[in-house]
Amino acid sequence: MAASGDTTTISSCTLIGRIALVTGGGSGIGRACCQVLAREGARVVVTDINLQAAKHTLTLLPGGQQHVVVAMDVSDRRSVEDAMKSAQDRCGALPSLLVNCAGVAIAAPLLETDDDSWEKNIGVNLTGIFLVTQAFATSLLETGRDSKGAVVNIASIMGKTGCTTMSAYTASKGGVISLTKTCAAEFARRAIRVNCVLPGLIDTPMSAGISEEELKNIMPLIPLSRSGRPEEVAEVVAFLLSERSSYMVGACVEVTGGYAM
Ligand code: NAP
Repeated sequence: MAASGDTTTISSCTLIGRIALVTGGGSGIGRACCQVLAREGARVVVTDINLQAAKHTLTLLPGGQQHVVVAMDVSDRRSVEDAMKSAQDRCGALPSLLVNCAGVAIAAPLLETDDDSWEKNIGVNLTGIFLVTQAFATSLLETGRDSKGAVVNIASIMGKTGCTTMSAYTASKGGVISLTKTCAAEFARRAIRVNCVLPGLIDTPMSAGISEEELKNIMPLIPLSRSGRPEEVAEVVAFLLSERSSYMVGACVEVTGGYAM
């Protein structure tokens, strides 16, 4: 579906000396973020609820020795706090860069959405970002050092447009957009920039379940006439974490091939 090409070979090493924690780093966009951030010189803390998948990501990173893997369930406060402590212990310093990428997409029409699937979508996609960002920012601000931090939240274009059969998912992603702006406003004067990315249709295990029929309907709505590659989202994430985007705060950057612009 996606055009071929490996953007992980582009490098300007903008993140040398930084420690970057990525949630959902075991798959899809999160894995691509780990790869691009490592290429940019960051030491990466790969976290995921699926430890085996996170370990596999580690094997794909340049400079493998310096990166670490930590299990983290973003929807569980205890797991998040333990993982943050473990990341600090193993790296000898706190992460100052964060990518909130872990996510689930459980689809159902509103009338068929049960409490469990509503809570799972909101619990991972929205509460997860609340818990991880709170733990990250608390630790970073407690150090009192003048370390510039940056956070990128992975929302979705559907958080802006809504989508039939995706009420809980789209509600969670709309929440991520407004949470991003509030965090951005609260932390801007404390040297932590917060922004978010709104991907469109990206080739990952999450989108693999979309039927041929649905794809036929979606494709004409994408001006680039193709789905995106995870690396194409990861490049924007790396830019937003770097000082190249030093005047960007509370931005919602669409990476959609032009869908719903
Ligand atoms: P993916 O390939 O399914 O990756 C998501 C990762 O998050 C998986 O490794 C998953 O583990 C992990 N995860 C699930 N629940 C978790 C939890 N409670 N704590 C920690 N990790 C957890 O999906 P993706 O497409 O890369 O999605 C990444 C982000 O992009 C998500 O926030 C998604 O909503 C967003 N997004 C994706 C698309 C798209 O078209 N792919 C479009 C817009 C936005 P398991 O596999 O074990 O569940």
